[in-house]
Amino acid sequence: MNRNVETSLAAITSVKIGGSCLGIFMPKTNEEFIKLLKKLYDKNLPFKVIGNGTNLLFSDDFHPFFVISTRKIAKKMSKRDNLVKFSSSTTLFDAYQFCLKNGLSGFEKLASIPGNIGGAIASGASCYGESIFDNLENLTVFQDNKIKTISKNKIEKGYHNSFFLKNRFYHPEIIISANFKLKTTDPCKIQKTYLEVCSKRKQTQPFGRSFGCTFKNTTTQSAGLLIDKCGLKGQCHGGAKISEQHANFILNQNNATFEDFDFLIDLAKRKVKENFGIELEYDVEIIK
Ligand SMILES: Cc1cc2nc3c(=O)[nH]c(=O)nc-3n(C[C@H](O)[C@H](O)[C@H](O)COP(=O)(O)OP(=O)(O)OC[C@H]3O[C@@H](n4cnc5c(N)ncnc54)[C@H](O)[C@@H]3O)c2cc1C
Repeated sequence: MNRNVETSLAAITSVKIGGSCLGIFMPKTNEEFIKLLKKLYDKNLPFKVIGNGTNLLFSDDFHPFFVISTRKIAKKMSKRDNLVKFSSSTTLFDAYQFCLKNGLSGFEKLASIPGNIGGAIASGASCYGESIFDNLENLTVFQDNKIKTISKNKIEKGYHNSFFLKNRFYHPEIIISANFKLKTTDPCKIQKTYLEVCSKRKQTQPFGRSFGCTFKNTTTQSAGLLIDKCGLKGQCHGGAKISEQHANFILNQNNATFEDFDFLIDLAKRKVKENFGIELEYDVEIIK
């Protein structure tokens, strides 16, 4: 089994921040992955499974659990008619490319999100009106030391939320693969939508080390706009900076620490509360 000697969480998150943990496993096949899950379950050891690490902010402290990163697991993509099956390690971009080739619509907007299928389902990913749950049929999960199928109606889900985010380090439920029922569509139309979304992102969101949006939008207001109205665009602390392009993005500009991020996150939350009476909810998952 591939266990990183480094144990550095910064190395496996997009924002490049995080202390160490008990050990990082990087299985290469689904079989290895499941074997490892069973082993940790049997030994009653604490662990967290992560995907591409693009929605996570770990503190710089030591974290007393193991981490399994799914990013090196060989991707499996298959289809029968308009039903597609993706392993949890499949990136949303790979899923889109597979669908494009097969003239199936459902991933052309999601493809612009840098996560994988497991991470996207667990974090309830969505963008530009397309949600990972829209076409989900069922999931294969590891639960209670068994492999089970859960149908879409049994999955507790919400806006950027799901039942998998309960953050239990002992015996958590883990996504192994997912089935989606998609609509047949002209590939040119699918590609056009993908390119339009990418162009919109380029125009409105910064490039750099981040975890995407820090806070969830409220039902009526954009969190970024609220932070912007507080005059916080461009605000720096240590090596971290609130993006000048999109105030809901905080960038690791120059070897930022967790404390640098924590300061700016707290500042934005406090100012929005003071100015508008709105309690912003975290979109990023913060693990202290
Ligand atoms: C530049 C940028 C832009 C972004 N834009 C968007 C956007 O438009 N919309 C959006 O929704 N998000 C966005 N994000 C956030 C993030 O990319 C998404 O939430 C993404 O779906 C997370 O996937 P991941 O594989 O990186 O998950 P991770 O960050 O690795 O994990 C997220 C959560 O899922 C859990 N998890 C991961 N894999 C599994 C599994 N197999 N079984 C059970 N639980 C699992 C983890 O334990 C963790 O709790 C953006 C991020 C960045 C950096």
